[in-house]
Amino acid sequence: MNNKKRTSIEDKLFTVTRKIDTESHIKVDQEKFKKDPNPAILYICPSKVYVKNEETGECVVNFENCLECGSCQVANRDYVVWDNPRGGTGVIYKYG
Ligand code: SF4
Repeated sequence: MNNKKRTSIEDKLFTVTRKIDTESHIKVDQEKFKKDPNPAILYICPSKVYVKNEETGECVVNFENCLECGSCQVANRDYVVWDNPRGGTGVIYKYG
């Protein structure tokens, strides 16, 4: 049995801060998103960037929460276009 103490996502997120850009570095093709019966991006993102608006069916993109981990690009290259945040913005690690 594994007795290692697990670190919560909140504790992990405490180690980073972000300089938020005025423009999103993530684009979602909403029509393709709506046709996906089980969008993996809603579950795979550790920072809950993607949230489905149950009224409109569209994907809300909370890009300011992005940790730049790349998981959404592995999960979906069809309708998520992810680019690096512009220079000087994005994740900043508090402890190097
Ligand atoms: Fe979420 Fe990682 Fe994609 Fe950023 S790069 S949106 S943190 S899955």
